[in-house]
Amino acid sequence: MIKTLSELEELLPLSPEEKEAFERVSSVYPFSSSEYYIRLARKSEAVRKMVLPSLEEIDEDVQSAGEDDPLNEERDSKVPNLTHRYPDRVLLITTNYCPVLCRYCMRKRNWKRPTFTISEDEVEGALSYIRSNPQVRDVLISGGDPLTLPLDLLEKVLLELKKLPHVEVVRIGTRVPVVDPERVLRRDLLFLIERSEKVWVNTHFNHPDEITPEAKEAVRALLKCGAPVNNQTVLLKGINDSVETLEKLFRNLQKIKVRPYYLFHCDPVKGVIHFSTSITRGLEILKELFKRLSPLAIPYYAVDGPGGYGKVPLLPHRFRVENGKYLFESFNGKWFVMEDR
Ligand SMILES: *Cc1c(COP(=O)(O)O)cnc(C)c1O
Repeated sequence: MIKTLSELEELLPLSPEEKEAFERVSSVYPFSSSEYYIRLARKSEAVRKMVLPSLEEIDEDVQSAGEDDPLNEERDSKVPNLTHRYPDRVLLITTNYCPVLCRYCMRKRNWKRPTFTISEDEVEGALSYIRSNPQVRDVLISGGDPLTLPLDLLEKVLLELKKLPHVEVVRIGTRVPVVDPERVLRRDLLFLIERSEKVWVNTHFNHPDEITPEAKEAVRALLKCGAPVNNQTVLLKGINDSVETLEKLFRNLQKIKVRPYYLFHCDPVKGVIHFSTSITRGLEILKELFKRLSPLAIPYYAVDGPGGYGKVPLLPHRFRVENGKYLFESFNGKWFVMEDR
């Protein structure tokens, strides 16, 4: 991994402003990237913005407008590393390690902590919670990035979950196919995913520039193991908050058989607010996307309620009710009426 300014500059020439930002910001919010992703940043302004520190992160307004843990993941934690918010699904945090530190990260609070990986005992604790809560049918494994876990640990988690009949779905949330795709192509990892049978993979592509031949190959390997691949995008100001960029992203994801699942509104996280686009603008973009794309290529636009209220998907207004009748707006802007029978 590339962590220092001099390592970075060997691969990516920086402007004086970028250099200053690196020097002033990285002691508060560290820098880390794979070599692959830095090479991508050479060709992509969007990638550059997602990976390089900027002075805005430590700007007073950006700092004071956000919270460390707005979603109360830690308060709602039932056993260490496990958040049980919705009745039927739990979130398991397995590590805080990510090969690339994305500047808009919702778990930026964890960057300052020493790297942690869930211990065998904590895995056992989480598993026994899941065992004794048969209403849990869906386990989200997240981090940090679970695809960076030691394979024997990931194996223990996945194969134990496989044994539990009430756990029907296991989701792995990962950005490795985007930021270090070669890492996905390990035979033992792919074989594990295949054997565990219940695994769905959620990738995290934010921009069409990230859909490279290497990323495509990583996705294809996952699909071959029988894991459905869905994608979560964050709506990011100056990176993907335009109809054209998102249209291209979602079309190109569908082309590699990745289903766009969520488009997240940026969470009000400390040091991240400068990436936030308004909800009104998000809905405007979405409305236009619905005119251009099949819903198969459109994710749910969702806010994650600050305070731990959970996610709420948003749809742009395409109808209104008048005198007991529904008026609908069609894809090409024509209105039609239907009785509410
Ligand atoms: C996002 C999330 C889930 C999964 O929600 P889906 O809408 O099913 O993707 C589960 N638990 C927590 C705490 C979450 O934040």
